[in-house]
Amino acid sequence: MNITEQNITIEKVKQSKISQIDFNNLSFGSVFTDHMLVCDYKNGAWETPKVVPYQPITLDPSSKIFHYGQSIFEGMKAYKDKEDATWLFRPLENQKRLNISAKRMSIPEIPEDYFMEGLKTLLKVDEKWIPKNEGSSLYIRPFVFASGLGFHASPADEYKFIIACAPSGAYFSGKVKVLIEEKYSRSANGGVGFAKTGGNYAGQFYPTQLAVEKGYNQVIWTDDNAHEYIEEAGAMNIFIRINDTLITGPTSDRILDGITRKSILEIAKDEGIKAEVRKITVAEVVAAAKDGSLKEMFGAGTAAVISPIAGFGFRDVDYDLPEMEDSIAERLKKRITDIQYNRAEDTFGWRYKV
Ligand SMILES: *Cc1c(COP(=O)(O)O)cnc(C)c1O
Repeated sequence: MNITEQNITIEKVKQSKISQIDFNNLSFGSVFTDHMLVCDYKNGAWETPKVVPYQPITLDPSSKIFHYGQSIFEGMKAYKDKEDATWLFRPLENQKRLNISAKRMSIPEIPEDYFMEGLKTLLKVDEKWIPKNEGSSLYIRPFVFASGLGFHASPADEYKFIIACAPSGAYFSGKVKVLIEEKYSRSANGGVGFAKTGGNYAGQFYPTQLAVEKGYNQVIWTDDNAHEYIEEAGAMNIFIRINDTLITGPTSDRILDGITRKSILEIAKDEGIKAEVRKITVAEVVAAAKDGSLKEMFGAGTAAVISPIAGFGFRDVDYDLPEMEDSIAERLKKRITDIQYNRAEDTFGWRYKV
């Protein structure tokens, strides 16, 4: 069946809770809009999506999500411009990646029209929830999980696809201190590191907690084999600037193909900023920190866009990064957010009007 906005049913809340929200003091992802999109997979097919009031989900204790972790998600944002129009940023990339994650986790794929028409319908119903304040946006969380029953370790026969939204302020405030991790790994060859699946993040919490206890904000993941190469910054892709060249690792089984990362690479090319996609060793970064050629490091992802790194720890030594006037991180962040909020021309065709 083809899904259009016409065949998505909408059940509205009796009373909106929007008047209880302080849009000037939004944290990240902790208050939710009035509605959500729900779509069930049963008898081998996705049913017609529905917009319903935001509400808890009741699940049987044997639902496979609880036991075998079949769950995937996406993270994206909706932005308001000065004329009150609503925009998304490269939403089809999220739709495609959700299905890349789905395939790896034996979850049935979501057709493009279910995802896009469902999302647009939800955004129209909850339009007033998209913040207009500078730096704020509506964080959108599409996710799919196994609702099918049974303790047998096999893929479920029923799933739920939900989109929930949270009006959010900026993700990080200030620069972060990171610890280069040499014991724990986020992902492995042949594993699921490239998928946005719940367990990847659960597995990061403990090593990150240990880093926090040592005074760091975040962990820099290295390869699982010899912990020789820099891979990701927490749940963000990482960029390292040595002299005037930006470097980021190639995507793989282990490194997630971030939309912010690939947008940054295209913007860098457009602006004549030298950028290299190649493996980069911890040793190279430490040497660059020592000789002063290490200028910037930053994480890249939808939530924070760009999260500058102030310094890193490696084998009990802390290395500070210099304070940069006119940093590449700031320049890239401005260019990308100007496109997202419709403040500048979008020569790439990334903006998507809702
Ligand atoms: C989501 C995510 C990213 C960033 O992807 P974006 O599409 O830029 O938001 C990077 N690394 C990991 C591990 C992620 O989960």
